[in-house]
Amino acid sequence: MDKHVELEHLRHSAAHLLAHAISELYPNTRFTIGPTTDTGFFYDFLAQTTIREEDLPAIEERMRQIASENFPIIQSCVSKEEARRIFKDNPFKLELINDIQDAEVGLSTQGSFVDLCRGGHVASTGQIQHFKLISVSGVYWRGDKENPQLQRITGIAFLSQAELDQYLHQREEALKYDHRKLGKELDLFSLLPEGIGFPFIHPKGNLILNTLKNFMRQLLYENDYQEVATPIMLNADLWRRSGHYSYYKENMYFSHIDETEYAIRPMNCPGAFLIYNTRPRSYRELPMRISEFGYVHRHELSGVLHGLMRVRAFTIDDAHIICQLNQMEQEITNVLKLIFITLAKTGFENIKIGLATRPANAMGSVEVWEIAINALKQALEKSGHSYTIKEGDGAFYGPKIEIGIQDSIGRTWQCSTVQVDFVQPENFDLTCINSSGQKERVVVVHHAIFGSLERFFAILLEHYKGKLPLWLSPIQTRIMTITDQELPYARNLRDQLKKYLRIDIEESSDPISAKIKKAQIEQIPWMLVIGKKEVENNTITLRHRDGTQEFGLTLAEIIERAQKELT
Ligand SMILES: [Zn+2]
Ligand SMILES: [Zn+2]
Repeated sequence: MDKHVELEHLRHSAAHLLAHAISELYPNTRFTIGPTTDTGFFYDFLAQTTIREEDLPAIEERMRQIASENFPIIQSCVSKEEARRIFKDNPFKLELINDIQDAEVGLSTQGSFVDLCRGGHVASTGQIQHFKLISVSGVYWRGDKENPQLQRITGIAFLSQAELDQYLHQREEALKYDHRKLGKELDLFSLLPEGIGFPFIHPKGNLILNTLKNFMRQLLYENDYQEVATPIMLNADLWRRSGHYSYYKENMYFSHIDETEYAIRPMNCPGAFLIYNTRPRSYRELPMRISEFGYVHRHELSGVLHGLMRVRAFTIDDAHIICQLNQMEQEITNVLKLIFITLAKTGFENIKIGLATRPANAMGSVEVWEIAINALKQALEKSGHSYTIKEGDGAFYGPKIEIGIQDSIGRTWQCSTVQVDFVQPENFDLTCINSSGQKERVVVVHHAIFGSLERFFAILLEHYKGKLPLWLSPIQTRIMTITDQELPYARNLRDQLKKYLRIDIEESSDPISAKIKKAQIEQIPWMLVIGKKEVENNTITLRHRDGTQEFGLTLAEIIERAQKELT
């Protein structure tokens, strides 16, 4: 059996097992639904008592007892009438039975426990071995606040103990190195009630974001991109023209200026198109590569906001390539190259590439979509990387390549996108005068390499567990002296090194051990320790974040090392 199906059956059966255990421990519980998740399962139910985190081990223990009895899991079919009789005391199941279109409904039976179910199980309860209950929370029936409040127990389940252990380890690491925690400890950013979902980036956090931006600016400059800056607010007519007003309105923020309706941009694209259209363009100007670090606002429900990972305002390293149809494939090939350079530089080696195709709500004809998808496929083939097809996952205006990066904890994050667009050139009447003097429709390729800079920053923090590499560290070097006697030497050193490194001096009169500890907590990669001996010999002791030390280095050697590591 396919591993995915096997896992699905296991997790689905684990949900029944959970309900079975709860039904024995908490009689008269009304069960609702118990679906599977990416890592396990949950079950929502209405119990007479409130179940707490500390009750989970006992429930898990009962699950193991039932599992050890190895009840066969029997799937059967009954009439709706019969099902209504079986679940007569459970209004939720009765509601679910009413929603079922077929004449008959499925039942799953293990021992004395019966559940409403379409099937897809392991053969017997004994096969459910590698699972764990991880949380209990409150939810509403069908997610509606007007409905009764339910309790949800969530569990994880895997095919082997090794996979379960690996997941638990990953989860522990993720909690330990949560970027929200690191952001606070390292004084990088805040999330304040005065602007829910709008991050406040502190000086050190901003140094990191600017380092990412500078890297990208240089890369794009070397590849003949031209950076622009366009307005954050544009009038509603513009958004009607771009299609966002009809396709994306619920995610946008609106305002009025004088009598005119305006919207804060959820995307940067129109700005680039309006600049392109400020004068007629010759085919000789194409491909035109327009980039912008665009600050966008997109509405998200407050419940899904998460640190810098999911926010309502963020910066996209956006670019729009306006080109002729026959230039598209070459441009996409080059964009992929830029993406791979960036991901290698930032320390991501495991990359997952997906090609998202035509969704149900697509604008534009099937033929035009096919041409675009083929160009993306060709570029991917040339890149030599493997990829998967994500059927129907494209945006409404074009197919795209999505690139996921795997972090050191083993999670995959989607970041870069390359998107072909045949629709906006129509909406904005983007044309060039071709070599035979005729007006010709052009093509747009949108791309973002980091994606959201704020989110990429958060991913980096968790990936490096707070220990950012030298080039990304906000303070790269700190000078610290054994006594105040060495301060003049230290200050001179700082002035000499300032040009090469982001550097500061610890001027407090704390003992050196305290100074070192403080720098370690701040995750500063290089500490330059200066004592009497260093002053006498005109040398420097370099102490690394991991505690290793190098003695007797000269200023020239430090400069050389910095230049080598930072280029
Ligand atoms: Zn089932
Ligand atoms: Zn765009």
